[in-house]
Amino acid sequence: MTLNSALEQAYDSPEGDFAVAPEAQAARKLPFAPMRQKVVALPGDGIGPEIMEAVQRILVAGGARIDWTTCEAGASANDKGAASGLPRETLDEIADAGFVLKGPLETGIGSGGKSANVTLRKHFELYANVRPARRLPGVITPYMDRIIDLVVVRENVEDLYAGIEHMQTPDVAQCLKLVTRAGSTKIAEAAFALAKAEGRSRVTVASKANIMKLSEGLFKQACEDVAARHSSIQSDHMIIDNLAHRLVMSPEDFDVICTTNMNGDIISDLTAGLVGGLGLAPSANLGSRMAMFEAVHGSAPDIAGKGLANPTALLLAAIMMLRQGGKLAAAERIEQSLYVTLEDGKDLTADMAGPRGVKAGSTAAFADRIISNLGRRSTDCPPAPRSSLKMPRSRPQTTAVSAVTARSDAGMDIFVEYGGTPTELAACLKTAAADLPFTLAMISNRGLKVYPGTVPMADFADHWRCRFASRVPGDDLPERQLADLMARISNFARWCHVERLQMMDGSPGFSVAQGQ
Ligand code: NAD
Repeated sequence: MTLNSALEQAYDSPEGDFAVAPEAQAARKLPFAPMRQKVVALPGDGIGPEIMEAVQRILVAGGARIDWTTCEAGASANDKGAASGLPRETLDEIADAGFVLKGPLETGIGSGGKSANVTLRKHFELYANVRPARRLPGVITPYMDRIIDLVVVRENVEDLYAGIEHMQTPDVAQCLKLVTRAGSTKIAEAAFALAKAEGRSRVTVASKANIMKLSEGLFKQACEDVAARHSSIQSDHMIIDNLAHRLVMSPEDFDVICTTNMNGDIISDLTAGLVGGLGLAPSANLGSRMAMFEAVHGSAPDIAGKGLANPTALLLAAIMMLRQGGKLAAAERIEQSLYVTLEDGKDLTADMAGPRGVKAGSTAAFADRIISNLGRRSTDCPPAPRSSLKMPRSRPQTTAVSAVTARSDAGMDIFVEYGGTPTELAACLKTAAADLPFTLAMISNRGLKVYPGTVPMADFADHWRCRFASRVPGDDLPERQLADLMARISNFARWCHVERLQMMDGSPGFSVAQGQ
């Protein structure tokens, strides 16, 4: 029997002990909710094929109607010459289906190849990474008696992960933290939409806007603008380090957390740790037109092919996928049978059985046990209200859309590589700019002001920010003279990059140096 005919047969079977949720019935009647969901399965590397097989079997038995297409991705595709681990055919199938269930994909460390995981997120603009952390019954953690049910909504494509890095000097590396108003608005809209879809009451925006006032500040401001349009959901802001502390102290206080890419990367691993660890954590990567669901863990090469792998994280990801596709009854039925299985503690895979001191089962036996429990309800974790998340629609943005009305030039920062002292550098720079319309305003090293004024007792890198003010502030930057200045600087130092200093609505669009 093929997987699809098995699915068909499963769908025709009775719904078990559960009534079909009204939302599910409604979803089925909607013209845009297909009766069968097309899904691309990427089994991936290591334990990927084993856990994918187990999850697909459970989904079939649970009555989820899915048209599967299995495609190649990861190390095997890499070996066949697909540099990103993603052959063209795989990308085409994904674009056609719109839904992906993904096993772990290996990324060679230092191989120079791009990560297939990151490529998928960027290629399909999967800008929202949704990581739920809900207490799982029977899973032993220091927090097992606490009611934890939160979701981290992480911006997935911008920030330090835009991948824009430069060696400024042989000894100084720089990574650009890129935060856009459009990207921040989209993720905030997604966080509020998720809160509504899941009957949640509060969105906590987490940022480091106290230190990175422009980049994280822009994110915070965009989130606050979105919050103002969703008054039925409470909203607050927390500095990200305080959030980490509060999450460990009282995780039950949190509902939806919305944050930037790197903050979210770290915080979502922390929240996974609260409820049993990365091995049990699912994740959804959502865009306006595409959705990809995966386990957070990797390919576990140490146990691959041994029948030891735990399919729980991938199954939880598949349950998120069913909900996103409007298959709410099947999602709830399968989720409850998983919870009952975890509660009963029979045929748990070794990673879960060990800490509980019970006999371990194989991946297949655990899947069989979940299937045999279909129709039962968990007493410890009853169904929670959930419906599909309708991702905010956004038009591809190719032109600048700005909230700023007035802009003017204030000067520029020229970053140079230089081996002397700040005093020597200042003297050379002043001579170079003497007959040009620029004044040397400040030099900083690693963000600390070293000129004018007292030279601080700090370690210096060979990388200096030389800030020049335009003698005629407000006028357009005189670019020809700027080129002259840079040519003169090249006689005693090597410039690495130049930043334009702009005033926006009367406020500086640039940071000041420490001590300035
Ligand atoms: P890993 O998650 O694969 O393994 C860490 C440890 O957890 C190992 O001891 C492993 O046996 C165990 N483990 C992981 N998943 C398990 C499961 N389902 N059941 C039982 N035990 C499990 O992390 P790693 O070793 O750092 O990475 C291995 C490979 O996976 C690397 O090539 C890495 O790039 C890749 N990776 C992929 C993803 C992804 O595709 N999203 C995520 C992380 C790592």
